[in-house]
Amino acid sequence: TIDTADLKRMFDTIAEAIEADKDRLCRLDGVIGDADHGIAMALGFNAVRDALASLDLAATEPTALLNTAAKSFLNAVGASSGPLYATAFMRGGAAIKGKATLADADFIALFQAMAQGIKDRGKAEPGEKTMVDAWQPAAEAAAAASVAGRTLAQCLEAALAAAERGAEATKDMIAAKGRSSRLGERSLGHIDPGAASAVTVIGAMRKGLA
Ligand code: ADP
Ligand code: MG
Ligand code: MG
Repeated sequence: TIDTADLKRMFDTIAEAIEADKDRLCRLDGVIGDADHGIAMALGFNAVRDALASLDLAATEPTALLNTAAKSFLNAVGASSGPLYATAFMRGGAAIKGKATLADADFIALFQAMAQGIKDRGKAEPGEKTMVDAWQPAAEAAAAASVAGRTLAQCLEAALAAAERGAEATKDMIAAKGRSSRLGERSLGHIDPGAASAVTVIGAMRKGLA
């Protein structure tokens, strides 16, 4: 089972991975956006790490930790990724409300709720060249692996592989949502920065819970 301390460790691992990936994400955003995506994600996850560090974990339920993550991410990030990830954490927390520890299936429900939250908040459909193109297939792959009786590690491995394929596929998409949609066909041939960072986040989630 997964407890609040495990979730904190997972967020710490995400913050570390995003910090290490910051420059690449800014470069990707520089091609079809405004070059701040790595900075935005690092600001957000560093703020989450700092906020979680001051929590009394023994007295904090998983849902409260996720709500703290949501609030600190939203406050730290001015870019469009701010409300998208804040909603993901809030919805993830709502999906496991009342649980002191999470069974593997609870974590899969949390993961799916995160992806759905991003979709609802940004109103992007798959194929519109956004982080949804990584998050939605990742959530579907995790759920399918879970139904097939796989371990949580295997579910997150499947999610990561699906996110990687999804992010790669954004190269062949024309941006229809967010800043890069202004480029129209000129967005073709370039990976979406938010889809790229989703791969980093999901990879770190898998690593942080291992
Ligand atoms: P900004 O464009 O405000 O500078 P960021 O650079 O942090 O924000 O994030 C850009 C990423 O946000 C895009 O690459 C895309 O993946 C994602 N994004 C933008 N708009 C949406 C949306 N409506 N739905 C889902 N994702 C979106
Ligand atoms: Mg940007
Ligand atoms: Mg910006």
